[in-house]
Amino acid sequence: MTPGSSHPDILIVGGGLLGCASAWHLARRGLRVALVEQSQVNAGASGQNAGSLHFQIERRFLEQGEEAASDAARIVSLNRLAIAEWQGLEDMLGRGLDIAMHGGLMVAETEAEMALLAFKVARENALGLPTRLLDADELRARAPCLSPHLAGAAWLAEEGHANPRILAGAFAQQAAREGAVIACGARLTGLAMQADGQYRATIEGLDGLGEVTTPRVLLASGHWSARLAGLLGLNLPLYPVPLMMNVTERGEQVLPFLVQHVGQRLSMKQSEDGNFLIGGGWPSRFRRRADGLPDLDRPGEIVEANLLGNLAVAARVMPGLAARSLLRSWTGTTCISADQLPLVGEVGKAPGLFVAAGGSLFTLGPVLARLLAQTIVDGRPADELALFLPDRFAHLNAFAVLP
Ligand SMILES: Cc1cc2nc3c(=O)[nH]c(=O)nc-3n(C[C@H](O)[C@H](O)[C@H](O)COP(=O)(O)OP(=O)(O)OC[C@H]3O[C@@H](n4cnc5c(N)ncnc54)[C@H](O)[C@@H]3O)c2cc1C
Repeated sequence: MTPGSSHPDILIVGGGLLGCASAWHLARRGLRVALVEQSQVNAGASGQNAGSLHFQIERRFLEQGEEAASDAARIVSLNRLAIAEWQGLEDMLGRGLDIAMHGGLMVAETEAEMALLAFKVARENALGLPTRLLDADELRARAPCLSPHLAGAAWLAEEGHANPRILAGAFAQQAAREGAVIACGARLTGLAMQADGQYRATIEGLDGLGEVTTPRVLLASGHWSARLAGLLGLNLPLYPVPLMMNVTERGEQVLPFLVQHVGQRLSMKQSEDGNFLIGGGWPSRFRRRADGLPDLDRPGEIVEANLLGNLAVAARVMPGLAARSLLRSWTGTTCISADQLPLVGEVGKAPGLFVAAGGSLFTLGPVLARLLAQTIVDGRPADELALFLPDRFAHLNAFAVLP
């Protein structure tokens, strides 16, 4: 079966973590799955990210004030499920995935930041996430490599990191074993709903143009998902976010934890090989197309001031880093939704059209893919997805015209 000649039960668009993990879950449950990826498996954000497994409420939810933070705390229920998913992933896929869940620290430098951490920890504890505040002495005892000037941290024993370069490929391999067709170099260029409710997809690929007819389409296309929904005249409130990442040369193992900062953009970890990965949401800059609009198809450009800013925060939190050479910096593009929560499930206006995008979907991707596959197979949303269904934005498609 090739995507060009088949009538699969579902066409998945995108070979990132979400697409490949969904392909595996769906193929295991007996669906005939075709996945098209315009480039290679893991070519998008799934292969470019920081690999942080952060289950504490993220800083980006805290920087918009208390109300927004309380609202966003609802994501904790999903984070708790994600912990269990990551803990079982290597057994489930039957191979090592460089997963290290030795704990995570969200540090504070000032008393005001400690107060914000206390607010956050209280919300998390109320929702069943066992984060704990550490004062300066407790933090120093736990992580002596960090700056003695830190005021304290929030600690979560289950946090950590994993290798983003292998996970999507591992899911794709298992999906293919279960019979899924994974076509790389195959790009969705047209999508229409027919009068009978089936979707007709046009795929431009290695073998020229192909047509696929299918009752279901899953847009697991990262920041491209909004543009692809536009092929059906639908609006998805997903916005591209171009980011930067850095890696230093190797050093002796001193940092077994994920480190984040409650008041500054920072994520930091040490890989199994000893390199330090430094990021945390510092933006890169989109290149421009000939018409002046941002070019979403090319990697963003490094913004030197942001790179230096990122490294400065990292070296302030861990002074020993200042002696390390930077090996490489790179950019990648992810996306956020209008309310910062993931958009996962069926688009009510277009029965059979599913989407999975928006947010920190390295951490949340494995559990969301499982819940989405369950939703697709059962024909009704998994309870755990209630907060994340695309139809909380149904008003954006009130004027869409479909057959
Ligand atoms: C620098 C950076 C750091 C990050 N750090 C973290 C982190 O530490 N922790 C965390 O949880 N999250 C992190 N994220 C976010 C995370 O990487 C993404 O949320 C996640 O990888 C999204 O996976 P995806 O499968 O939805 O999208 P992607 O991995 O982007 O995959 C989408 C795929 O769709 C394909 N595609 C697009 N259009 C078409 C088409 N027309 N036809 C066929 N194929 C198409 C693309 O080629 C791409 O491969 C980070 C992101 C970036 C960029």
